[in-house]
Amino acid sequence: MKTDAEYACELDRDDELAPFRDQFIIDHDDLIYLDGNSLGRLPRRTAGRIAEVTGHEWGGRLVRGWTDGWFTAPQRIGAKIARLIGAEPDEVIVADSTSANLFKLAVATLQCRSDRRAIVTDDLNFPSDLYVLDGAIRLCGPGHRLTVARSPDGISLPLAELTGRIGPDTALVALTHTAFKSGYVHDMAAISSAARRVGAWSLWDLSHSVGVMPISLGELGVELAVGCTYKYLNGGPGAPAFLFVRRDLQDKLLNPIWGWFSARGQFDFALQYSPDSGMRRFQTGTPPILSLSAVEPGVDLVLEAGVDRIRAKSVRQTEYLIELWRELLQPLGVRLNSPLDPAQRGSHVSLGHVEGLRIARALVDAMKVIPDFRAPDNIRFGVSPLYTSFQELHEAITRFRRVLTERLYEKYPTDRPVVT
Ligand SMILES: *Cc1c(COP(=O)(O)O)cnc(C)c1O
Repeated sequence: MKTDAEYACELDRDDELAPFRDQFIIDHDDLIYLDGNSLGRLPRRTAGRIAEVTGHEWGGRLVRGWTDGWFTAPQRIGAKIARLIGAEPDEVIVADSTSANLFKLAVATLQCRSDRRAIVTDDLNFPSDLYVLDGAIRLCGPGHRLTVARSPDGISLPLAELTGRIGPDTALVALTHTAFKSGYVHDMAAISSAARRVGAWSLWDLSHSVGVMPISLGELGVELAVGCTYKYLNGGPGAPAFLFVRRDLQDKLLNPIWGWFSARGQFDFALQYSPDSGMRRFQTGTPPILSLSAVEPGVDLVLEAGVDRIRAKSVRQTEYLIELWRELLQPLGVRLNSPLDPAQRGSHVSLGHVEGLRIARALVDAMKVIPDFRAPDNIRFGVSPLYTSFQELHEAITRFRRVLTERLYEKYPTDRPVVT
């Protein structure tokens, strides 16, 4: 593969998704934003939608907004997200945060399947997920345990290492589909069916997958899933998350938080709780309408572009990024901390260097390149195909090389900032 700047231009010219870049607010053309896997860019139409929700709906319609569409928005937007993950429209709802949704589904599962006491996960999982699962296990009482499969290299997880830990006592196999550090993608089909063979359910955190990876929950018979809307769905900082429960399980599971938005006949104001049927029982309290409204235009953009086309471009772009690494950075001691096989890689690439933290700082501060840093040594470059160009990738890695050859990172402190 060629790695010169001309070739990057050529790839952009041939890119059928290139026009989508104009759908986003991009103020500084010289800023290279490669952190869309942490916080996606602002779509133009979202800015318009927020103005409409605050001005016309909240400002003008006031409390009538609830009957004008706010009340059903979690289901309406959930039904759109369902199309991105191969689910039915009534199997997904938007509510709370990913962490809270994971908690609700993990506890609901342990309570429903009290004959089984283990949750199996792995150490590539997002720490918040591990904390939540651990907390759920403790809450459900003695005898319950969390089993954590170990990655041999911090990058990937051999299937056997995981399946060896799934047994007759396993209630749930809870994993993040695309690992937040290395970008490793689990084999959802193989793991879900291995779990089902011994009667366990699987729960997938799709935060780093939804919007860039084709997912077929229905086809694979997956039981449960959660995910985030502010990464590749571009829903905005702190936008509410979604959860999926296979239809036949919805009325078997009980949300452990008995909030009024999960209750049957919510506006009867009965003093005794009775759970609603279907996905509504997995809501908690009043949805954050401003943030929720911002989710929909981002989801619409992904639906318009099509996940398959997005994934195809994502693979081309991460392949290209890795080629640039091989040519320009590997000779300078930078390691690849992501899988080489594109089938096992999501939409970000982690590059490792002992000076990773200071390099990331120099990139942001002196080079106008925004990746992020994940301890101990990962500089993550997120490719968000709706707005990332090949020229940006070329330029970012060229600037990365300059940071090394000119030792620009040396003037930055080694202490870790509060947020990385
Ligand atoms: C981003 C992300 C989350 C985010 O959780 P919040 O509750 O929204 O803070 C959770 N899990 C994974 C795997 C993520 O990548």
